Amino acid sequence: TIGMVALDLNGKLAAGTSTNGKRRKIAGRVGDSPIPGSGSYAGPAGGAAATGDGDIMMRFVPSYQAHENMRLGMTPGEATKDAMQRIIDVFPNFKGALIAMNKYGEYGANCHGDYENGYFPFMIQRNDDKDPIQIQIACS
Ligand code: ASP
Repeated sequence: TIGMVALDLNGKLAAGTSTNGKRRKIAGRVGDSPIPGSGSYAGPAGGAAATGDGDIMMRFVPSYQAHENMRLGMTPGEATKDAMQRIIDVFPNFKGALIAMNKYGEYGANCHGDYENGYFPFMIQRNDDKDPIQIQIACS
């Protein structure tokens, strides 16, 4: 899955996901990626996007949860950690990652499970950046 959150110069936020949805897919399901709040979500406080086991994620709408957490005052890092914790409290073997950016352009991410070398990579590009910057976060 490719997940994206964008903030424009007027403060408008957007989020989206694109996925092949094949991994661990249950036959006949639509997938979590196109479901607002699950695969991605953008609202007045920020945006978030998720990747991982969609059959689990769609029960927790983690992108919406991350947005709500930011709306209630959490940083993007805190917001994604809390949204992820709600999943792994119930499904400790869950593998997935969540990125978020708030309306100020601050970002954060959280991941859980068996990612390569224990890290999940994501990219940031600001207006003045010539190229995107890759950031890696350690997964729990
Ligand atoms: N969430 C996607 C799905 O379950 C897969 C992924 O993010 O890798 O369809």
